[in-house]
Amino acid sequence: MWALRGLRDGVLTTRWPVRPDEYASATRGPATVLAPTARGASEADVAGLCPTSALTVTPSGEVRVDQGRCILCGRCVAARPDLFGWSAGAHQAALSRAGLVVPGEETPDTLAAVTAGLRARTRALRRSVHLRHVDTGSDGSEEWEILALLNPVYDIHRLGMFLTASPRHADVLLVTGPGALGMAEPLRQTYEAMPHPKVAIAVGTDAVSGGTVGPSRAAAATATGGVGDIVPIDVWLPGSPPSPFAILSALLLALNRLPTGSVAAARTGGGR
Ligand code: SF4
Repeated sequence: MWALRGLRDGVLTTRWPVRPDEYASATRGPATVLAPTARGASEADVAGLCPTSALTVTPSGEVRVDQGRCILCGRCVAARPDLFGWSAGAHQAALSRAGLVVPGEETPDTLAAVTAGLRARTRALRRSVHLRHVDTGSDGSEEWEILALLNPVYDIHRLGMFLTASPRHADVLLVTGPGALGMAEPLRQTYEAMPHPKVAIAVGTDAVSGGTVGPSRAAAATATGGVGDIVPIDVWLPGSPPSPFAILSALLLALNRLPTGSVAAARTGGGR
């Protein structure tokens, strides 16, 4: 039965990023800005649409989305389809927190400096890479997507990536959840136990900014404003939750294995 099914379906494992994959390009990312200038919309009109304070209007009337705060609720897209749409594609991660704000606040010089620093640090991580995951109060959705990386479709083992239970064997730290205060010390200890060189990735909007339990909200007594308040983060991946392709892209970005320029193009170029 299983043998027949295998023969019928053939190889299901994606070849992405070596070869294009239609599901990777169809991945929906956080909201993005379609029309930077909000004609006839005040700061209060625009900001009031968002439950996580991701939307702002600058004094010069430019609309901005902080994708690190976006939980993909869709309110802004439904209310103002002239201003907001969805970003598309797997490359949703950024190398700095400021890099998640669109239109971009990050200067090319800043990005080049961050990229060069990370590249120098991760040069040694060329062959097999071991990943340690720490949940700091997640709702469980990011964990499902991380686990999916091990299934036959994504199969991160083909890229030399493996999950490990021990921080002593880990090269990359995947952190999910909003940074619950009870998990702050275990997270810090895990990071400190990892050998150098090491890279930390904030996986999901909750980890990036605290999400719906960020510092300006009632739960501030139990959570931080994201895991960057606890350990140094190298790669910031928004999404609620991010797809397995987006997590894979963030991992490849951390290890400097992504084509140059693919990240910025994806986060601003959707608008579906
Ligand atoms: S889709 Fe994102 S940016 Fe838009 S209202 Fe919802 S959380 Fe805010």
